[in-house]
Formats: sequence, structure tokens, C-alpha cells
Amino acid sequence: MQPQLSDLVSNASCMDDYDPNAMSVTQARHFIQQFLTPVSETETVTLKNSLGRVLAVPVTSGLNVPGHNNSAMDGFAFRHAEAGKPLKVIGTAFAGKPFNAEIPADCCIRIMTGAVVPADADTVVMQEHTSTKSESVTIERVPALGANIRLAGEDIAIGQTVLARGHRLQAADMGLLASLGIGEIEVYRTLKVAFFSTGDELVDPGKSLQPGQIYNSNRYSLWGMLHALGAIVSDLGNVADDPVILEKTLLAAAAEHDVVITSGGVSVGEADFMKQLLAKHGQVLFWKINMKPGRPLAYGKIGNAHYFGLPGNPVATMVTFYQFVQDALKDLMGANRMAAISFAVECVNAIKKAPGRTEFQRGILFKEEEHWKVKTTGEQGSGILSSMSQANCFIVLNEKTGALQAGTLVEVQPFHGVC
Ligand code: AMP
Ligand code: MG
Repeated sequence: MQPQLSDLVSNASCMDDYDPNAMSVTQARHFIQQFLTPVSETETVTLKNSLGRVLAVPVTSGLNVPGHNNSAMDGFAFRHAEAGKPLKVIGTAFAGKPFNAEIPADCCIRIMTGAVVPADADTVVMQEHTSTKSESVTIERVPALGANIRLAGEDIAIGQTVLARGHRLQAADMGLLASLGIGEIEVYRTLKVAFFSTGDELVDPGKSLQPGQIYNSNRYSLWGMLHALGAIVSDLGNVADDPVILEKTLLAAAAEHDVVITSGGVSVGEADFMKQLLAKHGQVLFWKINMKPGRPLAYGKIGNAHYFGLPGNPVATMVTFYQFVQDALKDLMGANRMAAISFAVECVNAIKKAPGRTEFQRGILFKEEEHWKVKTTGEQGSGILSSMSQANCFIVLNEKTGALQAGTLVEVQPFHGVC
């Protein structure tokens, strides 16, 4: 049974007494995970609209793929037992145009790649291993019995489960479903996510800055990250640090969305105020997580909506999104969890770090003399957003790790793979 957040929130005062540095990244992830019940409503979409959607049902194949034994080569289909003699070529099988007659003794057919191998033949020889003289062909290099034939069902057999429920559909899956003749598919409904940025200092691009103002970058990075996940995104804009407006915006957003995300307003000075607001209307816990960047993080429920309060510093917003919110949203979408891909590579520069916190430094993976290596992007402050743009990976340094010398192996999480 799911634990009740209310039990934990009613203990919020003990959370306050709790050593703020004691919540590890792993603990926070597990904590959040317990409260995530996936959406249950489903809808049917066409294959072309299925990219990034989450399967609500497992897919089993109604077909053998390939549907028939077919040739893997351009060559000749023959009976292996007759390989020693010249064979008369009595016809041709093309892909999509089978050879439908019998093959008499000491005969064979020409066959193209993908063409059905007639039941009378048991082997295909590639053209390059034969010599032809008038209407006969001699097999110069006899292949093994059954060679060069792709067997019916060797990719997928009838009744086989090809995709599990909870699988997030990628381009290859769209092709796979098409190869099974499936044109429509049942998926979970899309998650509705609202977000807004808090801060009196924020101005949108296109407007001029007054003294002390800054451009709102989180609005755009959050928009991008949420769209990449395939959520229906409501951008509620910049909300001033005004209790009345914040309260109104938060409640309206929570009433109509599965998830509400805010950036800013959860650090020490402002947290008390947000805490009061959220305590009045919801069940929200504020944490200091022993990570860098991204220490302050709030998670909880406002009505039925999940709430994530991310720190305002632009790198911290992105790191907390990728390390906590992204998996949570995938869980809510009904997607099966997959651990982020990570591996160890040599870091070519020294790394500054004190033990005690998990750090997500920004790194650049590069190839040198056939070996992948990583270097940091340089200055690692949580306001240095250019580091996220330059980087192609996080360098994940665990709590115990201290300063590292150049040449040490470090764990990296690449931002992009092949697909
Ligand atoms: P806060 O978490 O509200 O205390 O903000 C921490 C830092 O991040 C401050 O320097 C803010 O000016 C900055 N900041 C907050 N929100 C944004 C935003 N949406 N875009 C860019 N910087 C922000
Ligand atoms: Mg602020």
C-alpha cells in the first residue's frame, strides 16, 4: 500500500529538526517514487502519432516475421543434394513475385533478395559463387545446407510479445508495429503539466531589462525539458513574489493538471513563505538534499496534483528536473523505469569537490586516440547556464568523493545516445 503523504507532513516539524543535509539523492528519489500512481486512462492513437507515447497494453504479434522463408541473397535456390551437377534454371523468384511452379529434378531457380524460397528448394547460393553456361548454372562453392535462407518467424513468431506494457515508443517500435500490420495502438493519456517561474526580478526575452532585473531562462529550459518528455505543457508565465497571486496561480494550476512545477522561491529566505502557502493548501515537504547544484527541493501534493518546487538557479533547476522530476513524470505516464545510462571514463582535468554531497558537474565527453574521455566545462556555479549548453554529460560524483586528480575514472551520464 502507498504510504500517505499526510502522515509524513503531519511530522513536518520533525522534518525541520531533521539534519537538513541528511537527505541523500537516492533517499529523495525513493521517497518521491512511493507516491507516484500512473495515469490509468488510455486512448488509441495512429502509429504516426505514437512517438514517445507509453503503451497501455502489451503488443503480441499476429504474424510471423518474416512471413515466409525468403532469400538473404541474390543467387539461385536449389536442392542441396543436387549441388554437384549443373542445374537447369527454370524461372525466377522476385521479392513480392513468388515462383509458383514445381522445381523438377536437377533444376533450380534464380532468386532475388527477399523473394519467397519455394518449398522444393532448401538452400540458396549467392550468384558470385556460381558460373552460368547457357541455361545451366554450376555451383562453384557449395554452401551449407539451408544457407542464405531467412526462416519464417525468425525475427518474430506468431503470438510472441514484442513490446511490454509501459514501453515508451521509439522510432524502431513504430517500424516494428508497422511490420506486424498494426496501424493503431492503445497508449496512456498524456500527462498534463503546468509550470511557472517565481521571482520579481524576472523579465522575458524581447523586453528591456531595468536595473536588477534578469531574463527568465528557467521558463524556456523547463518548457524544452517538458516538451521533450511528451507532456501537455501549460506555461503559466512569471509570477511575482506576491502571496495572493502565487496562491491563486498555484491552486488554479493544481485543479487542472496532473503536475505543477515551479522554479525559484524555495531557498532559505523565501521558503518560509512558500511553505506557509503550501501547508495551507496541500501536503508538501521541503528538503535540503545533499547535492550540488540543487539543494532546496520541495515535493508533495496539492489536491490530486503532484507538486515539484525547484530551486531558481538555472543549472539547479535543470539538474533537479533531470535527476528527480523526469523519472517521476515518466512513472506518472505509466512508463517502465530505466536507469540512466552511466559509465566510467577518465577525467582529463582535476576536479574540485569536498566530500559530503553528491555533485552533478557538467562534463564534455570527447574521443582521443580511440578512447572516450571527459573534461569538465570549467566553472561549476549553479547560475552558470552556459555550462549546461556546453556539456554533453553529467559527471556524477558521489557523497564520499573528494577532490580528484587529473586522470581519475569518473562516472558520467551522457545527455544523448544514438536515438
Ligand atoms: P530563488 O530560488 O528564487 O532564490 O533564486 C535563486 C537564484 O536564481 C536567484 O539568483 C534568482 O534570480 C535566479 N532565478 C530564479 N528564477 C530564475 C529564472 N526563472 N530564470 C533565471 N534565473 C532565475
Ligand atoms: Mg526568487
